[in-house]
Amino acid sequence: MKITRVLVYQIDLPLTHPYWLSGGRLKFETLDATFVQVETDAGLIGWGEGTPWGHTYLPAHGPGIRAGLSILAPHLIGVDPRSPEAVMQIMDLQLPGHPYVKSAIDVACWDILGQFANMPIWQLLGGDAPNEVLINSSISTGTPEDMLALILAAADKGYTVHSAKVGGTDVGLDIERIDMISASLPKGHKVTFDVNRAWQPAVAIEVLNSVKAHDWVEQPCQTLDQCAHVAARVSNPIMLDECMSDFNDHLEAWKSSACEGVKVKPNRLGGLTKARQVRDFGVAVGWQMHIEDVGGSALADTAALHLAASTPAPNRLASWLSHDHLSVDPVSGQGVRNLGGHVVPPSLPGLGVTPDPDMLGAPVAVYS
Ligand code: MG
Repeated sequence: MKITRVLVYQIDLPLTHPYWLSGGRLKFETLDATFVQVETDAGLIGWGEGTPWGHTYLPAHGPGIRAGLSILAPHLIGVDPRSPEAVMQIMDLQLPGHPYVKSAIDVACWDILGQFANMPIWQLLGGDAPNEVLINSSISTGTPEDMLALILAAADKGYTVHSAKVGGTDVGLDIERIDMISASLPKGHKVTFDVNRAWQPAVAIEVLNSVKAHDWVEQPCQTLDQCAHVAARVSNPIMLDECMSDFNDHLEAWKSSACEGVKVKPNRLGGLTKARQVRDFGVAVGWQMHIEDVGGSALADTAALHLAASTPAPNRLASWLSHDHLSVDPVSGQGVRNLGGHVVPPSLPGLGVTPDPDMLGAPVAVYS
């Protein structure tokens, strides 16, 4: 089987409400999504999506994906898409780094492999069943009262796990946010406080040694070394996210005891092929993981949730659905959807999601 054409689409995904991260430093209103359609000489078609969470969350942006694809796509014509590892080697040779450019192509190859094998991606990735995956809400930074109101609204939709975004310049207010939210959670609910790298190490140590809460704390500082320094001086379990760019960062995090868990995000890591490596490493060392994508429609969410569903239950905490924040649905109700606090991955062959052609419009680039 050979790839014959790669078609690239761009679509804006507006958020239902403006979203604030990192103590209010970063604001998001629209996501720039790139959809990739990989065609083959066997008539099978694979789909993938690359959607950074704006251009300030990570060193990744929508136009960068399309620029990178103009370099990569010509090298993929004639390649067998049923070998995602071999496709990844070609992409890494032709464009080192830039993992976020490669994830949509990689997911489309897994989609084709699944269709060819007549198996869903969760099964190709080692899963034994379309396992239920717990999902978590994402609570934008605000006053403690506003954040608690958002948590209660999420609870009404079935969410029992929450990711509350903190990390302001006012240390006292962060302490107040953390302790009030932790103490006021509905019974049985869990929360992670996501700092999104906003604190200096001294601030992280001060805040986390002042709060009563023992909940998970995510990405307290910018770098892996800073987070490891903090992890050695606080009692909260630490989750790492933005500073984890490739496999070696995960190896380093394990060696330096920097965390007890990581976020595994295909678009940040370069697709399912590399996310699976990290997932397998996390299982081997006993990490607890949130497996989800950086952003995007239910197509990107579904690709990530195939990986989550195929991961042993003790090694996964919950997964976030980016599409829950969008006011448009370019895949018309397909893929993973909130079933009252959990999702189930599709059992159709491959990815199990095909975009609505009317919503994608004409391709912005075609490579053949
Ligand atoms: Mg995070």
